[in-house]
Amino acid sequence: MIDNINKSDRRFHPEDTIISVGDLTIGGDNLTIIAGPCSVESEEQIIQIARSIKESGANILRGGAFKPRTSPYDFQGKKADGIKLLSLAKRETGLPIVSEIVGINHLDLFDDIDILQVGARNMQNFELLKELGKTDKPILLKRGFSNTIKELLLSAEYIMSNGNNKVILCERGIRTFEPMTRNTLDLSAVSLLKELTHLPVIVDPSHATGISSLVEPMSLASVACGANGLMIEVHNSPENALSDGEQAVTPEEFDNIVKKVNNIKNALK
Ligand code: PEP
Ligand code: MN
Repeated sequence: MIDNINKSDRRFHPEDTIISVGDLTIGGDNLTIIAGPCSVESEEQIIQIARSIKESGANILRGGAFKPRTSPYDFQGKKADGIKLLSLAKRETGLPIVSEIVGINHLDLFDDIDILQVGARNMQNFELLKELGKTDKPILLKRGFSNTIKELLLSAEYIMSNGNNKVILCERGIRTFEPMTRNTLDLSAVSLLKELTHLPVIVDPSHATGISSLVEPMSLASVACGANGLMIEVHNSPENALSDGEQAVTPEEFDNIVKKVNNIKNALK
């Protein structure tokens, strides 16, 4: 038992929480695949990627419009124009959309966005979490890279105690002494979270490793240890990506990953 964890605690809500987004259901036995570029870069880029990931079986399109970059000199995203391009991709493909919100004053811009992402750097932006708790959109809450499992659950409580129970947790790697991978993917957190909470838990193997060749094996491992879904960065030209090209898989590689993760999922039945 963890002190102060109430709404997300499985003991008070033994059944898995299932979150609906249009016709899609997240959590329980569903394996939800979210894919798309790190950043929305152009109409051609986002539409092309959206079409190909849909073809491969992705359920949700991701794309950053407001990018919280470590350096202020790096590409900061296309901002409101990026959101418009995501809406266009949604109309073209029918895929629901997830995008990161970095400030509550942007909420109006996110009207057409189906799932609001709270990035690792904002996991403990409590004022943002409280305000998102007053909305009725599903929230994809990423674990901060220096945050414990308990802190992640307490951040989920900030959202839920303000009225919004639609929280999806995301393990995206934590910072350790190991510099060869961008972060260290904490897979035991996934299995432990599944015990502690009824909320859906997904894994982002792209930010967890920072290396595109590791995305497939970590996706397979994530599904094997009980993840309810994956969020994978896909780019049609990774070497030209404006952010996170080193960890982006190509649409062809993504297609192969989806086939293999579905095989793992079926093997678990
Ligand atoms: C992202 O998903 O675009 C992102 C910035 O990830 P994180 O917040 O996990 O670093
Ligand atoms: Mn990224």
